[in-house]
Formats: sequence, structure tokens, C-alpha cells
Amino acid sequence: MVCKVCGAKAQVEMKSRGLALCREHYLDWFVKETDRAIRRHRMLLPGERVLVAVSGGKDSLALWDVLSRLGYQAVGLHIELGIGEYSRKSLEATQAFARERGLELLVVDLKEAYGFGVPELAGLSGRVACSACGLSKRYILNQVAVEEGFRVVATGHNLDDEAAVLFGNLLNPQEETLSRQGPVLPEKPGLAARVKPFYRFSEREVLSYTLLRGIRYLHEECPNAKGAKSLLYKEALNLVEKEMPGAKLRFLEGFLEKIKPRLDTGEEVALRECERCGYPTTGAVCAFCRMWDAVYRRAKKRKLLPEEARFRPRVEPLRAG
Ligand code: AMP
Ligand code: ZN
Ligand code: ZN
Repeated sequence: MVCKVCGAKAQVEMKSRGLALCREHYLDWFVKETDRAIRRHRMLLPGERVLVAVSGGKDSLALWDVLSRLGYQAVGLHIELGIGEYSRKSLEATQAFARERGLELLVVDLKEAYGFGVPELAGLSGRVACSACGLSKRYILNQVAVEEGFRVVATGHNLDDEAAVLFGNLLNPQEETLSRQGPVLPEKPGLAARVKPFYRFSEREVLSYTLLRGIRYLHEECPNAKGAKSLLYKEALNLVEKEMPGAKLRFLEGFLEKIKPRLDTGEEVALRECERCGYPTTGAVCAFCRMWDAVYRRAKKRKLLPEEARFRPRVEPLRAG
């Protein structure tokens, strides 16, 4: 296989796109393709400040790299989740990346901010770890974005992630959930916009970029992800993709372009301010505050916290780069 642009030996072959490229032209294509996705969906304004959620894995480090190259003021936010060695190495990979490139990095340590990391939080909240973790990440990302004056948060979700979520949502269809899926969630008062500039790249395409660019990332998966349904859905979709190149992208894009518009009822869910933290919620107290209030009650009963301990929703990120 030869590079479609220059005829040199191809480094990456993309069957689903009928495209093969050498290192130089692949890196170039990947950055331009991200730029196209950003413009097409008006994800970011030229040169805008954007808070990038960085886990230390390949997707989010590649995203931070590409957004910086495209001229955005991309500030990283890493959330230290307290998942043992895995979290320690995640923070290390993120800090090394920021340091080497002179990028600004904010860090929130869940345990320092609220008293417990994900494993203890899961036990005390009665939620499964991934649910307690996901809720914490979404809440903290938003709070830091709003408090630090960012209009928008970017995450490294790729095509495999998005297609797997869609697949899962279609196995148990709910209009509410389906109509929220997509590469852009617009901002609302108290809620930063959320964008996924890599949503059209397969996991393999992002990995190729990361490797060819020489980005050092954490290879380990989160230990809690073992046995997660999303991995089963990814496997199933990859089986189909193997026989039908391009199926994954058609599945997701087809849904977003042809079906999702019919789901948008135009009705807005009424949001009000959480009585505990002031951030938007549909009920009186938001899910994050409800979870932590319950955790503090149980922790006091088990003498893990002193009676006078009080849950405070506000976090102050550390500036780590
Ligand atoms: P995952 O669900 O682990 O595939 O992560 C999806 C996206 O969420 C990543 O691409 C990041 O943008 C963001 N993310 C995941 N974990 C963290 C973390 N610990 N701190 C900040 N952002 C994260
Ligand atoms: Zn080439
Ligand atoms: Zn709240």
C-alpha cells in the first residue's frame, strides 16, 4: 500500500475510508479532519479557550495535542479518582505531557476535595464504581469549567465510544437519552457546553495518531472497566466492522443525521438550582450532592468521618503545570 498523497510507503491503511497514508500525511490528515469536525458542528470559536478533560490515556492526550496545534487555548483538567496505581500513573502521564509541552494543567483530587476516592465512594454510596465515577467526573468537569470561566469542555470520546453508547441506548431505547447523544451538547446557564471533536475517528485511528506523533500515554485500562457492557458492545461492533468496513461510522452518523432530528421535541426539561450547590438540576438537590450527602451520613455512622464533617460541593483545582 502506498500513500495516496505522495506515493511513499503507507503507514496507516483505513479500509473504511478507502484511504492509506504515510506518517507525515496521516498526521496532517488527522489534524485537518478534527478541524473539519469542529467547524461543521461549530464546536469551538477560532482560538477559543477550551477546558480539555485529560485522563492520561491516548484519546485525551491526542485531543489536547491536536487542539493546541489548531491554535485553541487548550487548558487540561485531570481528575485524580483515587483508583490506586492506575490513578497514580494516569496523573503522571498527564503531568509529563503538560510539562514537556508547557501546557496549563488543572488537577482535582477527588479524595482531597471530598474525603473519599472512587473505591470508597462506591462502597459508601451503594452505586457501582463506574456510575459513582462517571457522575463525579461530569459534575467536577462542569463545575471547574464554569468557575474558571470556560464556555466549553472537550472530551476525547471516539467513534468506538460513541457507537457503543448508541448501541447500548438502542438495546433499551429511551427518547430522552437518545436525543441527548451527539458530538455537541450546547451550554445553558450553569452548564458548560460539551464537545467531542474525535467522535468520527475510530479507536484505531486515534491510536495511530498517538503512536506516529510519539505521544507517551498510559496504556492501562481502568481496572473497574473489566466486564463493562460498553466493552461487549465495542466487540460486537468491531465484528460487524470487520466484515463491513465503514459500518460503525454509518451507524453513528446515520443516527445523528436521520433519526435524532426527529426525536428533538423542542421541549426543554425545566432546570432549577440545586439547594446544596447551586448548579442546575431537575430536582431540589442534584444527583452529585445527594450522593455525597448519603455518603457522609453513612461514613459518620461507620465512624469513618467525625460527626462535625460536612460535605462542601465547591472544589478548588490545583494548578499543576
Ligand atoms: P473514558 O470513559 O475513560 O473512555 O473517558 C472518556 C473521556 O472522559 C476521556 O477521553 C477524557 O476526555 C475524559 N476523562 C476520563 N477520565 C478522566 C479523568 N480522570 N480526568 C479528566 N478527564 C477524564
Ligand atoms: Zn505521504
Ligand atoms: Zn448540587
